Parts: sequence; structure tokens; C-alpha cells
Amino acid sequence: MKTTLSKSILLGLAVGDALGVPFEFRGRGNLERHPVTGMAGYGTHNQPPGTWSDDSSLSFCLAESLCGGYDIQDIARLFLKWYNEAYWAARGEVFDVGIATREAILRIKSGEPPTSAGLNGEFDNGNGSLMRILPLLPFILKKGDHEIVKIVTEVSSVTHRHPRCILACLILLLVAERLCEYSILEAIRGMQVRLRDILRMHPKLLTQKQHFDRIIPGNSQPKNTDNFHIPLKDASPQSIRSSGYVVDTLEASLWCLLHSSSYKEAVLKAVNLGEDADTTACVTGGLAGILYGHQNIPQEWLNILARKADIEKLAEMLEAKYPNECVKKI
Ligand SMILES: [Mg+2]
Repeated sequence: MKTTLSKSILLGLAVGDALGVPFEFRGRGNLERHPVTGMAGYGTHNQPPGTWSDDSSLSFCLAESLCGGYDIQDIARLFLKWYNEAYWAARGEVFDVGIATREAILRIKSGEPPTSAGLNGEFDNGNGSLMRILPLLPFILKKGDHEIVKIVTEVSSVTHRHPRCILACLILLLVAERLCEYSILEAIRGMQVRLRDILRMHPKLLTQKQHFDRIIPGNSQPKNTDNFHIPLKDASPQSIRSSGYVVDTLEASLWCLLHSSSYKEAVLKAVNLGEDADTTACVTGGLAGILYGHQNIPQEWLNILARKADIEKLAEMLEAKYPNECVKKI
């Protein structure tokens, strides 16, 4: 089965986001009693079924900008256009904006350069850049370590400039890069190997490594992939948090992939973790889209996805600019 990377990312993340939107802020206990099993509507934001949120809007702004080449000013311009004019909103209305994202966009509006617009304090480590970073993947594939770090740093910094957010984005992209060809466990293993070299060259990112110890443990790993192990794989559901903290979202999305065997199972697991359900499911959905291919996203969900034709057209443009076909053994 041939699948295109851009389409898998964009449809994968939007469907996950839309599944989670009605249940954002819902407590896990409630969802354990009444689990989400499909595309619902209304709920938290009173939106019809298939409505995706800021996570997807900003992902689509990034994707559209990349279609004209990489230009950080242009990326920031489209983020501002989304905030001001509901550009790339699902149904003409912006109904959900993160605090740090709003702050950064207002700073851009008042003339702050995009690469220093995001705040970088300890308490600015929300998941607002992680949730919109995946469309960067087709552009950075095959680039060298130094260039990737520079680009990811710039794109995250438009709204989230703390090195912890940047490292989270980098880890996500380095795992995603491998999901075309490998299993989630192999992809995480490959990420760790490449990241070790990157961190050696980037001390600022290295200072944040300890916060990701369930994904990139400090001890050396066995060379043989069969014996490879990461703490996150054995983590209990109770220990997986689904808050808006960037490390929680990254852990939760990887954990969902490690504990499921289809796109559907992965994203429903993410939504049913509750709390920041749309963002956890958006990130999980982007990864699961790549791993299983867009053909394996349930058709009944795609049928009610807001602006599906626009998203597909955008994916085709991104694909034309940065071609990448994955051949799946599924
Ligand atoms: Mg959202």
C-alpha cells in the first residue's frame, strides 16, 4: 500500500483533534465510565461533529506557508491571520486559543520578531508548539542535524521558546520521521540514537534531557533492538498524564502508539485519557496517520470532518513541494 506522508499527517492530526474537541477538560474518571467510541459533537465547545480546533488550524497555517518554501516571517503572518480573521478555522470561528499562543501572537502583532515572540519561562512549557509541529516533517526530512535543530527551534519559538518545548518538538519529529518504515518501538530507538549525537552538539537542549527520562533514559541501551526497552512502554495508564504540559502530551501520545495496533485504537485511547483530549489526540493522530497510513483512518470519521476537501488539497500542495511516498506492508 502506497501512502503519502503529507496526507497522512494532515488528515491524521485533524481527525484526532476533532475526536477530542467535545471532551477537552473532561476528567478521566468520567471517560472511564463513559468512553468515547466515535466522532461526537457539541460538548465542551458546543461545536458540531467533525470540528477541529486551534491545533489543526495552526498546523494547516504552517503547512500552507511551507508550500511556498520555508519563511519564518510568513509562518508568523499566517498564525496572526488565523487569530485575527479565523483563517484556516474549521467553521469560520476561533473558539480555542492557548494562553501562551495568544500572548505570543499579540507580541508578533506589536512588532516582536517571530523567533523571539514565544515566551521562554519555566511555566511557558505548554504543548502549543508541539501540537502544530508535525507538518514540518516533509520539509526537514533528509536535512542534517544542525539544520534540523535550527529550523525546529525557530518554528517552535514563534509561540514556545523554552528549550524544553523545542526538545519535545525535536523528539516528536525524529520519531515521526521513522514511522513510515518502522514500528513505533523501532522509531523511538532510532530517534534516541540520532538524538544522542544532536544533544552532544547542543548543550542548551541537553539541559532539558532529564525531563524526558521515560522516553530517553539516561542509561545506555543494548545494541540489539530486540532487547531494546523504554520505560514509557511499561508505564501504567495511571502514570500517563494528559495535561497541557508539553512533556505530558509527548509521553501520552507515544504511549498511545505503543499500546495500540490501529489508527482508530490509538486516537480513541488518547481522547479517553481526558483533560487536554484534543491536543493529545491531535499529536497521537498525526503519528498514527504516518504509522498506519491515511487509508486506515475510519471513513465514517473522514466523511464528517470539517473542510476535508480543503485539507486534502493542502496536503496535495505540500506533497507536490516535498514529495514523500511511504510504502506500507499493511
Ligand atoms: Mg485545541
